[in-house]
Amino acid sequence: MIVKETEENAPEFIKSKIRDIADFPREGIIFKDITTVLSNPAAFKHCVDLLAKHFEKQKIDYIAGIESRGFIFGSALAYKLGVGFIPIRKPGKLPSKTERVSYDLEYGKDSLEIHTDAVEPGKRVLIVDDLLATGGTAEAAIKLVKKIGGVIIGIAFVVELEFLNGRKKLPEDCKITRLITF
Ligand code: AMP
Repeated sequence: MIVKETEENAPEFIKSKIRDIADFPREGIIFKDITTVLSNPAAFKHCVDLLAKHFEKQKIDYIAGIESRGFIFGSALAYKLGVGFIPIRKPGKLPSKTERVSYDLEYGKDSLEIHTDAVEPGKRVLIVDDLLATGGTAEAAIKLVKKIGGVIIGIAFVVELEFLNGRKKLPEDCKITRLITF
C-alpha cells in the first residue's frame, strides 16, 4: 500500500516502509525488516524526530542503545537531543570491565553487556531499541542499566509487536514509548 508522506501521518508512513520477511531467522517468524525504513530519508527522519519530540522536555543524561538496530535509532536520537550515547552490546564486544545479563529471545537465547562505568550513579537513562517483541531483550537492558546505577526514565521503540505482549515482562514503573504497532 502506498502511503503519502505528511507531518500528520508520519507513523503510518513509517509503518508503510517496514518490510515483512517470512521465516527469518527461523521458520514461523515474521521478521519486521526496518532497513527499508532506514533507506528512506523521510521515514528515518520521522522516526528520530517523533522520538525527539516525545522526549525533548525530559531531563535525560544518556541514551542506551541495544545492539545493533538500537544503535542506529539511539545514536541519532542522542545526537538530536544533545545527550551521551551508551552501547549495550552482545557478549565479548566491549573492551573494558562489563556487567552481563542473559535472557530468552523470540528465537533463541542471548546475553547483553554494558560497561560497568558507563553511567555515573543516579544519571537518567533512556533505553532505545528498534522493536519490542517478547520483551526479553528490553528486560535484560533494563537490568543492566540498573545494575550499574543508572535511573531508567523510560524505554523507547520504533515498533511494538503488541500480540507478543512483551511489555508484560518489563517493570510496571517503566514508561514504554513506541511509534507504531502491529
Ligand atoms: P525480544 O527480546 O523478543 O523483545 O526481541 C527484541 C529484539 O529482537 C529486538 O532487538 C529486535 O530487533 C529483534 N526482534 C525480535 N523479533 C523480531 C521480529 N519479529 N522482527 C524484527 N526484529 C525482531
